Amino acid sequence: MAVVKADGYGHGAGPVARASLDAGATALGVATVGEASELRQLGFECPIIILGPLTGEEIGAAIDADAEITIWTLPFLKNIIGVAHSSDARIRCHIKVDTGMRRLGLYPRKLVEFLDMVEPAPEIVLAGVMTHFATADEEDDDFFYFQLHAFEDVTQMVLTTGLTPVFHAANSAATLRYRESHFGMVRCGIAIYGLSPFQGDAAADGLRPALSLTSYLADIKEIAEGDSVGYGGTWTAPRRTHVGIVPIGYGDGFNRRLSNLGSVLVGGEKYPVIGRVSMDQITVDLGPSPKADAGSEAVLIGRQGDAIITTEEMATALGTINYEVTCNLSSRVERRYTG
Ligand SMILES: *Cc1c(COP(=O)(O)O)cnc(C)c1O
Repeated sequence: MAVVKADGYGHGAGPVARASLDAGATALGVATVGEASELRQLGFECPIIILGPLTGEEIGAAIDADAEITIWTLPFLKNIIGVAHSSDARIRCHIKVDTGMRRLGLYPRKLVEFLDMVEPAPEIVLAGVMTHFATADEEDDDFFYFQLHAFEDVTQMVLTTGLTPVFHAANSAATLRYRESHFGMVRCGIAIYGLSPFQGDAAADGLRPALSLTSYLADIKEIAEGDSVGYGGTWTAPRRTHVGIVPIGYGDGFNRRLSNLGSVLVGGEKYPVIGRVSMDQITVDLGPSPKADAGSEAVLIGRQGDAIITTEEMATALGTINYEVTCNLSSRVERRYTG
């Protein structure tokens, strides 16, 4: 399963879904019914699984989108049986079991009772039984194995009833690190974008980032020693220098906390962001004798010559993870697809 929720982690759900299916994925994972409907409208015919919860009002739209649904409570199960019955639909469902995440999912000890409700319902097809790992990306693997063994017990329990759903548990981190967690399907998000689930060197896991974020120098301005730059004048030139102005800002998802912290590649070299990140622009110290011209490419994420800024590096500077960095790229940033 290629997980393309949150607009394909900011990359664009449609093109990512297309590329993933072309590369061998057979199902798409999303978080919301809106995301599922959008993919259907784009013409995707493969299974689309909604991994998140639905309100009662959303069940109809999920049926309309021919989406598969994640279930784990009896009231919700009764609700979908009711809606499916009145619209003459059969809904493919995945039971989510909570083996330790303590978020969505039913406890393993409730599973038999739940299966007893699912099995005889003609409105429900049990497509999958799943769990989600809390710590597959952490150094310490004790809790991972605790969850894995709990899920193995779950699979045994299900199989003794004669049902043969697809079992699935692994996110990107588990897929890369633990072969024994793959079962019948893996659910990869961050890895399909070429980003590290471990926040380390993506190349170490054979991953190559799909995304780069580029802009250009809209202008270069010479400033004098003592001049301050941008809102609040938070950066003051210690010497005569040149400020490069790049037309990207927090309105594009370039985080404002990168003020006086981030960096930008120009002409294959790394320069510091100076002053505050504003909504539409950032300012960069290009030094006393800049080699670049107005119009030169500026790379915010990615490679330029031998220089590189990784999403993981930016995330670490921000105290967050690569997932959030790409998710936050706003719709104002034009997506261009190559290859
Ligand atoms: C988002 C999500 C995934 C994908 O996680 P990655 O760490 O991006 O691979 C897998 N399973 C579920 C249930 C999810 O919500």
